[in-house]
Amino acid sequence: MKDYVVKRSSAGLGLFANRDFKKDEVIIEYVGETISDAEAQRRGGKYLFELNDEWTIDGKSRDNTARYINHSCKPNCYAELTEDETQVFIKAKRAIKAGEEFTYHYGSYYFKNEITPAGCKCAKCLQKD
Ligand SMILES: [Zn+2]
Repeated sequence: MKDYVVKRSSAGLGLFANRDFKKDEVIIEYVGETISDAEAQRRGGKYLFELNDEWTIDGKSRDNTARYINHSCKPNCYAELTEDETQVFIKAKRAIKAGEEFTYHYGSYYFKNEITPAGCKCAKCLQKD
């Protein structure tokens, strides 16, 4: 059995825990092609993960299961760069139970440009209505 499963969520497809995870446990690596900042600007797209001012991961490939993890304003995961800034791992912000959806905060730039125009669909924001 895999550690996670892709299923429907409030924001389209999402990634869900298939077992319990401990706080700070690695859930999955955000994988993709590492491209220059200029190339990232040219390509655009919603699966770009900025490593630093020079390099970005383009995670649009279907091999990148981490791309199914949705944004949340009250997430249970966080993204952590390795010290050499070449890889990104999604880790548990707190203990996560099997069946919970994984979420992390996409960052203020992405939020402002990609989420605010249509309204945030995360569980925390939907509760406010
Ligand atoms: Zn939200």
